[in-house]
Amino acid sequence: MGDKSKIAWTDATWNPVTGCSKISAGCTHCYAERTDKRLRGAAGQAWREWSASNAKYNVRLHPERFDQPLRWKKPRMIFVNSMSDLFHPQVSDWIIYRLFEVMRDAPQHTFQILTKRPERALKFFERNWALTQTPGISFGGGFIGLPLPNVWFGVSVEHQKAAERRIPLLLQIPAAVRFVSCEPLLDNVNLDVWMQYTHPKTWIASGLIHWVIAGGESGPNARPMRPDWARSLRDDCLKSQVPFFFKQWGRWMPMPGEPDRLIASPQNEHDIPLLDGKAWTEFPRLQPIA
Ligand code: SF4
Repeated sequence: MGDKSKIAWTDATWNPVTGCSKISAGCTHCYAERTDKRLRGAAGQAWREWSASNAKYNVRLHPERFDQPLRWKKPRMIFVNSMSDLFHPQVSDWIIYRLFEVMRDAPQHTFQILTKRPERALKFFERNWALTQTPGISFGGGFIGLPLPNVWFGVSVEHQKAAERRIPLLLQIPAAVRFVSCEPLLDNVNLDVWMQYTHPKTWIASGLIHWVIAGGESGPNARPMRPDWARSLRDDCLKSQVPFFFKQWGRWMPMPGEPDRLIASPQNEHDIPLLDGKAWTEFPRLQPIA
């Protein structure tokens, strides 16, 4: 677990919680679920039977991993809970709070939290704020002053409806950097209304959304991402000067020379230009401000 990640927009993953339950169309071929099933399959019959009976809400805590980032001395970008959703209803406020304490105490790292449940996240932050206003009340040893400068907060958005539901909540959450991950991209998404001018040097001076990630679905039965959806997101980001990161085509990519036809993509799909001459490498991933 952890120290290195294959996910191109981060360095490492930290999974103090694993397991989840599906909440929207983007979850249909959930990578976390597939991996979890594979691990359960490798773990023997008794475990398989137990976990099959708990399959719907197979959320598990891993307390032995809680302090893991404190032991990593070299600064890293860390994706929190790549195998779950930190704001799943089965993860208690107390646990979330405890994990925020770890993030606060590891300022050498940048933590990236991505959720499909921003309504729960907002409630958590509101409660945390309320506690700061109530003398004599202590929760997990005190309150956390938010936003933490080393914590980025993002929502997953697979289509326009998800954007309209989740982004307005994201914008109310105190965060040093707010990002939107459009992966798997299942339809055209227009983020214009939530993007504002961002300072070209710091990237995070005044924008409402500071970073956009896009990518197609991977794995068996993956649904195709139409190239014009990715291209239009990229163009909107360029127009608003919001950094854009093209993560991958996924299972399907445009056929070279025939941009409207999709073919199964090779493994190194990152090397394929985004249709009109702009390679994914022209959009470097967002870096923490020194
Ligand atoms: S919210 Fe994320 S981790 Fe949970 S089921 Fe959906 S895709 Fe999987």
